[in-house]
Amino acid sequence: MSKRLWVSDNGDVLCQDHVGTYLKAAIEAKPKAISHRTPLDNWGLYFTHLLGGADLVCEVCTPWNSPDHPYNKNKAVA
Ligand SMILES: [Zn+2]
Repeated sequence: MSKRLWVSDNGDVLCQDHVGTYLKAAIEAKPKAISHRTPLDNWGLYFTHLLGGADLVCEVCTPWNSPDHPYNKNKAVA
């Protein structure tokens, strides 16, 4: 299952539901673009089933301290 996530230059990761007003407007203006520049950040689109996307989660849906966060899952396995 693939999910669309937006990753900023500052390392923020957000799903389509949780992007801010600026990025939401940018996506609506250019729905097919894989990157967007907003007044706050540059954003790139990632798909979670692709290389490098497996460890990405929306930081609103899955906080850093959640056991479901990939970082904590990896720690539990190791
Ligand atoms: Zn989210």
